[in-house]
Order: sequence, then C-alpha cells, then structure tokens
Amino acid sequence: MKPKLAMFSFTSCEGCQLQILNLEDELLSILNAVEIVNFREAIDEKAQDYDIAFVEGSITTPEEIEEVKDIRSKAKLVVAIGACACLGGVNAMKNFFPLDFVRNEVYKEKASCFPTLPVQRVGDVIKVDYEMHGCPITKKEFLHVTKSLLLGIPLKQIHYSICTECKTAGNVCLFDKGETCIGAITRGGCDAICPTFGDGCEGCRGFVDEPNFEGMIQVLADRGLTKPEIKNKFTYFNGLDVIETINDKIEEFVK
Ligand code: SF4
Ligand code: SF4
Ligand code: SF4
Repeated sequence: MKPKLAMFSFTSCEGCQLQILNLEDELLSILNAVEIVNFREAIDEKAQDYDIAFVEGSITTPEEIEEVKDIRSKAKLVVAIGACACLGGVNAMKNFFPLDFVRNEVYKEKASCFPTLPVQRVGDVIKVDYEMHGCPITKKEFLHVTKSLLLGIPLKQIHYSICTECKTAGNVCLFDKGETCIGAITRGGCDAICPTFGDGCEGCRGFVDEPNFEGMIQVLADRGLTKPEIKNKFTYFNGLDVIETINDKIEEFVK
C-alpha cells in the first residue's frame, strides 16, 4: 500500500499548490511512491482517508476552523505549506483593521452573508507537524520534506538568515546599492532568490529565531525609510508576529 497524500487549501491564492503541480519532471516519480487522494487543483477525487495532509492557506472563517480540525483528526501528519498557512502571510493585514470594516469593504451589501474571523495560522488552530515556509514554497523544499516524511527522516527548520544564502550566492548587498532588504532577520531556504534578482527580501519565510528587530529598524531608518514604510516591511508577511509590538518598537528606535 502506498502512503496516501492529500492537499488542502484554505484562504490563499493557491500558488503553493501550483508549485507542486509545476513539479512536472518529478511528478511521475512522486506518483510511483505515493497515492494522491485529495488535490482539488489536480484531481476530482476527494478521499477522506489519508496519511499526510499538506495544508495551504490561513484560517479565516468558522467553517475553515471546523474543516482543518477534521483534517487533523484524519491525518497521521499535517504539514502547513506557505506563508499564508505558517505565518498568516499577506492575509494577516486584515487583522490591522476592524473586522466589520474589512467585511463591508470586501462584500458590500452582501457582508452579512459572509462570516469572517481574524486571520489565524494553521498552527494556531491545530497541531502542525512541520511548517514549510515561503510565498510560494519552493519545489526543492517540497521534494525534500516529502521524501523525509516518507522515509521517517527527522526534519529541521533552517535557522540561518537570507543574508547567509545571499553571501553564498556572491551577491552585492542591496544596501550597498542604496536599496533596502530585511534578509538579515528572515529565515533562509529560498537561496536568497529576491536579492539575487535585485529585489529586497520582504520576509516571506518568516523571521529567524531571536531576530534583531531594533537593529533592523535602525538600519532601515538610517536609509531614509519613513515609519509607515518600516512598518510595511515588517508586516507584509509577518503581521501576526509583530502586530502587537511593531508600532512601539518603531517609535522607540526611530527618532
Ligand atoms: S503563501 Fe503565497 S503563494 Fe502560497 S498560497 Fe499564500 S499567497 Fe499564495
Ligand atoms: S541584499 Fe539583503 S539578503 Fe543580501 S546581504 Fe544584503 S541584506 Fe542580506
Ligand atoms: S528572499 Fe525573502 S521575500 Fe524573497 S523568497 Fe526569500 S524569504 Fe521570501
């Protein structure tokens, strides 16, 4: 019997699942090793019996809470995939505004038909066995995590920053080009893809352990960013982590 894999999607753009579908060269090998029994973007089947559940998206409605709890009760292992599921991601910006204001902006006169809750990570609602970070996840990491889970190899999160990978890639730091980047406080794992192509890291893989927020704020302020611009850098993907503290820290460290 092959292990059964299931893919589920909650509030998200489904771009992480698309990354899995984009594994064109490897998909046949994967299908030799596992049976995919639930994957709305790829198959019609919706089996209720699976071993590993990959869960994309953040949790934002009462129905999603019940659905993700049901997935947890059926799966031996649950892996949260992508920034929406692991961090709240861009969806977490909703939590900066009153819930009724957001609901009315989006649904207008139909607002009362759409119950909505403050954004939560998947791990806020159920126990998660592993978090695969990124917006979107990388194909390389999906293959590594899936193989490791199938072989029973323990998984470890990356704890070094994007700067480590950026230096390994031989990039000139964007700060030396007059630009900005929060790679110094962001978890590695994407091979510093944004700085490598000339864009500052926006933090989609979450913060490293013990990030030096104060130092990062000061560096960004020294480079001329305003307080709202600094706040945007910290909250673009990581609003849930800093929503309570970031305004105070910016006020404290930007004079
Ligand atoms: S993490 Fe990014 S790519 Fe993945 S579902 Fe969320 S918004 Fe889409
Ligand atoms: S460009 Fe960003 S990730 Fe690269 S070294 Fe500079 S701060 Fe670090
Ligand atoms: S460089 Fe930063 S924003 Fe870009 S993919 Fe990596 S973690 Fe995400």
